[in-house]
Amino acid sequence: MKTYYTAVVIGGGASGLYFSHLMKDCLLIEKKTGCASKLLMTGGGECNFTHDDDAAEMVRHYYERKAFVSPAIYSHDSHAIRSHFEELGVPSFTREDGKVFPLSRDAHSVAYALINNTRNIITACRVTGVRKENGIFITQSTKGEFTSKYLVIAAGGASCPATGSDGDGYALASSFGHHIITPGPGLCRIKLVNNIPGCEGITLENVSFHLAGKTFEGPLLFTDNGISGPAVMNASRYVENKDEITICFHPLEENAVKRLEGRKKAVNALSAYTHLPDRFLRNLLPFLGDKNIADMNRQDIRETVQRLSAFRSSCTTQGEMKRATVTHGGVDTKEVDRKTFQSLLCDNLHLIGEVLDVDGECGGYNLSFAFASAFCAFSVISEKES
Ligand SMILES: Cc1cc2nc3c(=O)[nH]c(=O)nc-3n(C[C@H](O)[C@H](O)[C@H](O)COP(=O)(O)OP(=O)(O)OC[C@H]3O[C@@H](n4cnc5c(N)ncnc54)[C@H](O)[C@@H]3O)c2cc1C
Repeated sequence: MKTYYTAVVIGGGASGLYFSHLMKDCLLIEKKTGCASKLLMTGGGECNFTHDDDAAEMVRHYYERKAFVSPAIYSHDSHAIRSHFEELGVPSFTREDGKVFPLSRDAHSVAYALINNTRNIITACRVTGVRKENGIFITQSTKGEFTSKYLVIAAGGASCPATGSDGDGYALASSFGHHIITPGPGLCRIKLVNNIPGCEGITLENVSFHLAGKTFEGPLLFTDNGISGPAVMNASRYVENKDEITICFHPLEENAVKRLEGRKKAVNALSAYTHLPDRFLRNLLPFLGDKNIADMNRQDIRETVQRLSAFRSSCTTQGEMKRATVTHGGVDTKEVDRKTFQSLLCDNLHLIGEVLDVDGECGGYNLSFAFASAFCAFSVISEKES
């Protein structure tokens, strides 16, 4: 096996594979026994690999990194990603909500399309160190040393570490002087310190909540000790430990409660009025028991209104990194060129995908960025080499 390549790529995930299947003289090094562990889990195994948006709409889904991701998303937008997979034999379809999946509804088809078109892959090989000497990168690994003109760090973030992306990429980038913005879990559930027991499994269709100075809206799903759902997941990155969340399950005023039919059971009357499920209301408002509306005292009414329209709890995402969908934080984007993904600290070093301090919302935006950043790095390297 040869040991010198034009490019060495660290990480056989979404971004590393996308880069490597395009690049001719390149070695992809993957720590796990197979590539694409995380990619295979995406979209519940069906792989929501992009979103049916034009570039201008796409960039709106990357929180405070809109400006950074913009050139990449414009140069390789969701249409380009879809056509590229189509050429690789992976046609796709758009779901009603705009999420794009392979027609096979199987992430394996996306992963294999990339793996089968990648020339040189070593698996079960962990990169342990990298350095640059006389303009050449030396990559040390558990299977020996490899040298290259370009080095691409595509080692992912730190969320869901069982898939192989466990923060190694940060240490490798740091060895070239890069700064790491503290990583935290993103697109995960939020645990409520003041949990409402007995609600697990209940979904509420349209709830709004206030967290970290922002308001979010959408369906809300109760989990064993917290809440989930698309809006919750999109908001989870803002949770600092023990932040306060205020949830409005249904806007309600004291007068509206007083006007309800007095002989009816309070829980049933409230359920009919708010369209919230009985089981949820019984757990949220246990003090109502079997009381009729007419029997509710002033404290009952006040407490009911407060819990329904402004339920407060401390919340946390502590411990969620092990199953979070994405990492927020990572290599500081101020140190990376946003058109080429070349390091501004080290020539010919490129950083792509989730190792960077970029995270997107639910809906295919994280894979889109992994692919678009890989495409940009490939384009500039292949242009220099042509
Ligand atoms: C359960 C789940 C569902 C998801 N669903 C979606 C979805 O539907 N749509 C979407 O857009 N995004 C989704 N994501 C997010 C998406 O999968 C990631 O953003 C994307 O995979 C990031 O790609 P990446 O190449 O940067 O990193 P990764 O895909 O994490 O790949 C990094 C690779 O580098 C390897 N590596 C790390 N360190 C080393 C080392 N020292 N030596 C060698 N190899 C190393 C790792 O083993 C890993 O294979 C999901 C994530 C999870 C966890």
